Amino acid sequence: MKKISIIIPAYNEEESLPLLYERIEKLMKNMENYEFEILFVNDGSKDKTIEIIKQMREEDNRICYVDFSRNFGKEIAMIAGLDYATGDCVIFMDADLQDPPELIPELVKYWEEGYDDVYAKRKSRKGETWLKKFTSKMYYKVLQKLTRIEIQKDTGDFRLLDRRCVNALKKLRESQRNTKSMFSWIGYKKKEVLYDRDPRIAGTTKWNYIKLVDLAIDGITSFTTSPLRLSTLIAIPTFGVLFIYFIYVIAKCIIVHQMIQAYQAIILLILFFSGIQILLFGIVGEYLGRIFNETKHRPLYLVNEYNGKKEMNQ
Ligand code: UDP
Ligand code: MG
Repeated sequence: MKKISIIIPAYNEEESLPLLYERIEKLMKNMENYEFEILFVNDGSKDKTIEIIKQMREEDNRICYVDFSRNFGKEIAMIAGLDYATGDCVIFMDADLQDPPELIPELVKYWEEGYDDVYAKRKSRKGETWLKKFTSKMYYKVLQKLTRIEIQKDTGDFRLLDRRCVNALKKLRESQRNTKSMFSWIGYKKKEVLYDRDPRIAGTTKWNYIKLVDLAIDGITSFTTSPLRLSTLIAIPTFGVLFIYFIYVIAKCIIVHQMIQAYQAIILLILFFSGIQILLFGIVGEYLGRIFNETKHRPLYLVNEYNGKKEMNQ
């Protein structure tokens, strides 16, 4: 019997969990010819999330959990899920039921047909502001322009991955993770399934615009080094202008014998070039920061306990 691991990162989700379990449970009943594992990654929740998970495990031993020593963020929770999942395929799902479990049979169907990465694409996004929709659309456009790798639009992390993809993703151990771009990067046979994204069932979103901007910048810099090329692109016309201006000034001196208004020119030039320098340093710093983080070679996360056992071998 094939085994499906459902990986659910959870951070302060005490209200959603019972409802979530109810819906998954119903689904598992209908898919009797598969073995299931529901793997929660408790990402340092401050509420009763872990207690509830432990309680649920007592009643249903298909429920497994990885309990982090603190909050490491959803991206890290996802790689931990991949590390601990034992299934032949895994399905990522949010704890807040924004990803309907009822779609799982369809994902599995395509997996059985031979697809390795069956991702759910949002048809609609209920309960999200037009601003969030608009910014996300623009972001995907820009990102796609910057890279050769094909990027899936309007997809979240809700997807099914074959064991091959799981093993591939486990090899990508960078610390500033942008899992979405990794799904694209690994390639393999992809299939999209459309669905309506529901509003979050309980609790509040853990995202805010600052976090989203963070994620967006991470997405671009982890995907491509084209922002580095930006510096060259800006530098070339700048030096062009400088050269022409230089010729102009010299020519004026020689031909018309006219002195330039030095202070104006100097102030403008200083502002102009210091502006460019700051921009360039910013871009270099962006990558330097990444190198710095990677060279530390820290473990991506620390586990407090796995399925009730204290984690010792870290
Ligand atoms: N999450 C997490 N760690 C965090 C933040 C969020 O594991 O630091 C989980 C959260 O419990 C949920 C999923 O990631 O299962 C998506 O979070 P949320 O619903 O807040 O994001 P949104 O759907 O608004 O993008
Ligand atoms: Mg959500």
